[in-house]
Amino acid sequence: MSRIVYVNGDYIPEEQATVSIFDRGFLMADGVYEVTSVLGGKLIDFAGHAKRLERSLTELDMPAPCTMDELLEIHRQLVEKNGIDEGLVYLQVTRGSDGDRDFVFPDPETTKPTLVLFTQNKPGLADSPAARKGAKVISVPDIRWHRRDIKTVQLLYPSMAKMMAKKAGCDDAWLVEDGFVTEGSSNNAYIVKGNKIITRELSNDILHGITRAAVLTLAAEAQMEVEERNFTIEEAQQADEAFTTSASAFVMPVVEIDGTKLGDGTPGRIALRLREIYLDEMRKAAV
Ligand code: PMP
Repeated sequence: MSRIVYVNGDYIPEEQATVSIFDRGFLMADGVYEVTSVLGGKLIDFAGHAKRLERSLTELDMPAPCTMDELLEIHRQLVEKNGIDEGLVYLQVTRGSDGDRDFVFPDPETTKPTLVLFTQNKPGLADSPAARKGAKVISVPDIRWHRRDIKTVQLLYPSMAKMMAKKAGCDDAWLVEDGFVTEGSSNNAYIVKGNKIITRELSNDILHGITRAAVLTLAAEAQMEVEERNFTIEEAQQADEAFTTSASAFVMPVVEIDGTKLGDGTPGRIALRLREIYLDEMRKAAV
């Protein structure tokens, strides 16, 4: 069934949706995005995603295409028009098109940003077989640019990292820089030792995950200890558990790193508990 998508003010069938070939998102990856999950037809942590979007736009001197209240309304309309119960809403803002290609940013007074949103229907997103099995990851060098805190659409290397993982018979890749894990290809990375959850601290080296923020708060509320510091692949391989977080996969247990099984090779107790707490609490707060 054809989706109804949103492009610059219009709700239209996906086949009719177009963006200029001169759009800077297409030519220069001059764009930012957000992915918000939908559970029970409601948006999970929309406020967190809206706040990070505003930050990404500010960091890149890109004008906001509309207010965050208007964005919420567009999200809701798309969820309703496409009958999404479980799935995702993808949002992308680019610096738009001034009808040519130039490294210089166009004048924001005359060139308006492009705003595109579409839904992805994903029945079974919460009750995921992948989460029951756990993910196998490989490590790859982190050769991305140094403003990973900005959620840009420059996803070629993360996409290549994912392909390297697939080729190795695994599910995902953890990125390593100066000997330490930065994050996953499209998620934040954690290890668990005893009752302690360890994850890299926030900086420009990693994306400030909206799920990370929620999970760390919920972990502290559940009396789990949280330590924000660097860790190596070797330390991760010897940890009791590991997991990742992202808006689209929530809390995903990791059961193998570079061929080394963690514990008995099944999803860890703390990862599964956090997944349950996260889903429960976020469903309650969904809008
Ligand atoms: N790091 C990277 C590189 C990502 O692409 C993502 C997902 N977009 C995350 C972390 C997780 O962020 P969030 O919890 O906001 O989805």
